[in-house]
Amino acid sequence: MKHAPIDLAWARILVTNDDGIHAPGIKVLERIAKSLSKDVWVVAPESEQSAVAHALTLRRPLRARKISRRRYAIDGTPTDCVLLAVKSLLTDKAPDLVLSGINHGSNIGEDVTYSGTVAAAMEGALLGIPAIALSQGRLSNGDIHWSAAEHFAPKIIRKLAGVPWPHDVLMNVNFPARPPDKITGILPCRQGRRIDGTDVTAGRDPAGRPYLWVGVFQSDKPREKRTDLAATAAGAIAITPLHLDLTHRGTLGALSEAFG
Ligand code: MN
Repeated sequence: MKHAPIDLAWARILVTNDDGIHAPGIKVLERIAKSLSKDVWVVAPESEQSAVAHALTLRRPLRARKISRRRYAIDGTPTDCVLLAVKSLLTDKAPDLVLSGINHGSNIGEDVTYSGTVAAAMEGALLGIPAIALSQGRLSNGDIHWSAAEHFAPKIIRKLAGVPWPHDVLMNVNFPARPPDKITGILPCRQGRRIDGTDVTAGRDPAGRPYLWVGVFQSDKPREKRTDLAATAAGAIAITPLHLDLTHRGTLGALSEAFG
């Protein structure tokens, strides 16, 4: 089954993220959402939840703190935020669209499986709501400029709203780290894989005890063409439809033969 095209002017838009409700990226996305519709709600984590993936909080209660009109902070994960928004805060009318981001940094290649930004969109899709994850790439010195996302996101969201896509698919949009006039295109492409993975750095704390610290992320060198990694490396905006069904159909055939 596919989503009907979304009439954005009348759409209820739920905005969330994984960088936390005070992050600059969600302010950019809220502004963009409000340029598309009057019915915009923000339900986002109290604190940063990057790389929590699709985690749910099960072993303690959650609290929704109303910050202002149509804006709530939740002391949980991005997935908690979407679930609570739909099941508890917006019970009069479900969102017509979930926008997650704009993340501080890319969510391409294997990032997708760690990302809280993408997971919030996954939760939207699981609840039957069209959902788009948006991420802005960082410069090599770690700085971030939101101008590419600010300039192109409204146009991309409008276009996606008119494209019917299946209920178990979400959209993953990545803006490369360059100004709008240096963007080389908007490329639908598949999820890629980096040549190098994530590093672990060993060190010693001030008391001399050894530690291991995850998080030297390798450069975005793509293994293959026509992927989110290759597109953003070439200065294009990558749009990847992601499927909630992670089954690898080719291997299923081989398994059926082996176990048949
Ligand atoms: Mn993040």
